[in-house]
Formats: sequence, structure tokens, C-alpha cells
Amino acid sequence: MSTPPSITSQTQGHDRPDRYCVLQEPAATRYCIGRHYQLSGLQREECPECGLGFDAHDLRTTTSKQAGNIWRALATLGQLLTVGACFILAGILITSAIGVEPLFLWLAGIVAAPFILILVILTAIPAVNISTRTRVLALACVVVFVSVVLTGWPFRLTFMVHRPELERYVA
Ligand SMILES: [Zn+2]
Repeated sequence: MSTPPSITSQTQGHDRPDRYCVLQEPAATRYCIGRHYQLSGLQREECPECGLGFDAHDLRTTTSKQAGNIWRALATLGQLLTVGACFILAGILITSAIGVEPLFLWLAGIVAAPFILILVILTAIPAVNISTRTRVLALACVVVFVSVVLTGWPFRLTFMVHRPELERYVA
């Protein structure tokens, strides 16, 4: 992994020139002290995940510790589920808008329910290293998906759009 340009690693040797060269490590990857989000390639000295500010030149404001394996695995799972949710949502919106058996929507809802539950739980746990943007996206997908399954509103919408045409046809 490439080294973040904005973060340099320095030590207490900074104010003692004789030890400075010895103690200066090569620039290393640093992590947010909040939830250990990787702070690399950032434009601003601010954690993109939790918004916590840091000073790239003050090691006390960041940490070299990565988040634990389990949390990283859960974060990956959350991200994959979010991507999956986006695709499934797009599919369900299109099929619902075209007009489909409500039973099919219910079936899709039942199949998706366990995954939705896992995704909601993952986004609700702060320690899982998922960006706020992904959390919002995941929850938005879940809300829209559930609303489509329960009410079938995309079909109602297309029906309403075509209603004047249909009425003209009937008249
Ligand atoms: Zn953070």
C-alpha cells in the first residue's frame, strides 16, 4: 500500500537534532484514534469516517494500530452487503414499476430479510469501520426496499403517470 503523503511519522526526537535522524521512522500508515479508520490519501486532517480531527505531525493524535481482524471483516461484509443492496434495490424498483405480482415482491422481501437484518445491525455498530456515507446509503436502500415490498409504490407511480392516457382510452 502506498504511503499517505499527508501523514508523516515523527518522534519525540524532533526537538533533539542529535537523535532526530536515528529516531525518525519512515512515514508509516496511521489510523484514527477513534475507530481505527485508515488515514491515507486525505486532503484534510480529519477522519473521513468519524470526523475526528488530527495533526499529521503529532503522533499522539493518531495511532499505528489497525482495527481488529473481526471488525475489519465485518466492515468488508457491510460494504459488500451495501453494494448488493443497491443492485437488488435497482432490480426491485424496475420490476415493481413494470408491474409484477405482489406475491413476487413479498417473496423477494422474505429472501432478503436476513441480509437486511445483518446490514442494519452492522451499520448500527459504531465499532464497525464503515464510512458514514456507506451507512447512510445502506439504510436508505433498506428503507426504500421495505417500502417497495410493503406498498409497491413504483407501480402506483407509473400507473398515476399513465392514468390520463388510460382515461382517454376508456372514454
Ligand atoms: Zn475516526
